[in-house]
Amino acid sequence: KTEAYDLVIVGSGGAGLSAAVTATEKGGRHVIVIEKMPVIGGNTLRCASAFNAADPERQSRLPMTDTLKDAVVKAINEKPANPEHAKLQADVKAKYEAYLKSGSKSLFDCPEWHALQTYNGGDKVGKIPLIRTYASNVKGTLDWLQGLGAPVLDRVSQGAGALWQRTHQFDAPAGNALIEPLLKAANKQGVKIVTGMRAQSLIVKNGKVVGVRATDTLGDKYVFNGRHGVILATGGYSQNKQMRQKSAPNLTPDMVSTNQPGATGDGIIMATKIGAGTTGMNYVQVYPLATPGSGTLQGRARKMSGLDDVIDVNKNGERFVKEDARRDEFVAAIKKQPGAMCYDINDSQIVKKTNSFNEDVDTLVSLGRIYKADTLADLAKQIGVPPKNLEATVAEYNKQVEAKNDPKFGRKLFDKKIEKGPFYATPRAPSIHHTMGGLTINSRAQVLDTKGHVIPGLYAAGEVTGGIHGSNRLGGNATADVTTFGRIAAKTALGLK
Ligand code: ADP
Repeated sequence: KTEAYDLVIVGSGGAGLSAAVTATEKGGRHVIVIEKMPVIGGNTLRCASAFNAADPERQSRLPMTDTLKDAVVKAINEKPANPEHAKLQADVKAKYEAYLKSGSKSLFDCPEWHALQTYNGGDKVGKIPLIRTYASNVKGTLDWLQGLGAPVLDRVSQGAGALWQRTHQFDAPAGNALIEPLLKAANKQGVKIVTGMRAQSLIVKNGKVVGVRATDTLGDKYVFNGRHGVILATGGYSQNKQMRQKSAPNLTPDMVSTNQPGATGDGIIMATKIGAGTTGMNYVQVYPLATPGSGTLQGRARKMSGLDDVIDVNKNGERFVKEDARRDEFVAAIKKQPGAMCYDINDSQIVKKTNSFNEDVDTLVSLGRIYKADTLADLAKQIGVPPKNLEATVAEYNKQVEAKNDPKFGRKLFDKKIEKGPFYATPRAPSIHHTMGGLTINSRAQVLDTKGHVIPGLYAAGEVTGGIHGSNRLGGNATADVTTFGRIAAKTALGLK
């Protein structure tokens, strides 16, 4: 069966749906999204929808402390790795000086600082033009999503590994906040979405990508032609063990993952077969704070992703890391602890009836997935930690909250003390989460071949691409990246403004 469209999009996660909605916004375009799984949404549906964007208005209530100032000063004065880095530092410096002049007491932030932190947090191996494109467009994406009905909360926090308090969250469980409004808009705008349809290969005519070959669940074969080409939005490869082990041999094949089973790198396989280049394929992210055993993100006690009111302790009841660390540092620290796991410890002040995945917290307690007790000593007994140690750790931490200083590990974020029972302990352990590497693209989301030339008609957006997050993606940079580049890919493909 052969069908013809203006644009063919492969994958229905955040990137694919953002592309589809953008492509059909002005009407008159015939667009298809094919999705191999029976459900729409990909990993985007599974995530906690942490979304980083500098947003002066929502950040205005957050204070700028001396340690945060030190972080900015250090980053702008560090020896640059290359001229693009030097230019980015200079741009942040100019914004920071203007900020100091303004006398503002609120948290400093701007797209350039977001970009510099993304670059530094990825060990300076990301591509600055892509990062700049991302950071300068992401607030626009957030507003666009809100316009489509995404319930953006007013509170901004710092998600796990986000490195700055610019993580937005939504008043909806998990990735529903993003997928639901995008899907509604796509349906309203007449996008055709087909599930159970797996893209198998790209069709190239006269050097241009003009469509995909696909197979449905019954094995029937289809050809979908795209007059303006194809957007690959097929996500990462955390569930493709062969690809994952080849990329990151330090991970073991039996390691669990937060990802949906469809994250098997199909887009990378299809595009490299026609000559596409890849970037950063050796970088795979492990998320530090997943559920031990299953590896899912779910099961925590707190409502928000912010880490300012939580500490993590090992089986001895001791802290062992700054909780606002990069994800890779956090994982490395957990691996050194007994049992390679830890417990999120928090008090009742940040617990609501449900967590950010819409799970009922008391149900999780009754299932034994979260521990709850009126006193820290009782909580310690439940999780088999020496009660005196946990009490001492929390007492020391509460002093640090007052002093806003953590001399041992260098934590920067402090909000409430851990003091109001009931107290909660949630077991957490590392789980494979995100593949930073993928297809090489330029800032217009065009796929490049191994020599750096544009492959006409082929675009890619989201986790299938490489080069933005370097060696370590900041928490909260994924949904923000995939939706932003999904929009860019559609605009480039169709020549939209
Ligand atoms: P992103 O965050 O980059 O949008 P997601 O993981 O959210 O990535 O979504 C990618 C989607 O692409 C998933 O739903 C996945 O099942 C789908 N997908 C992956 N490979 C194929 C394929 N060969 N054909 C159709 N859909 C695919």
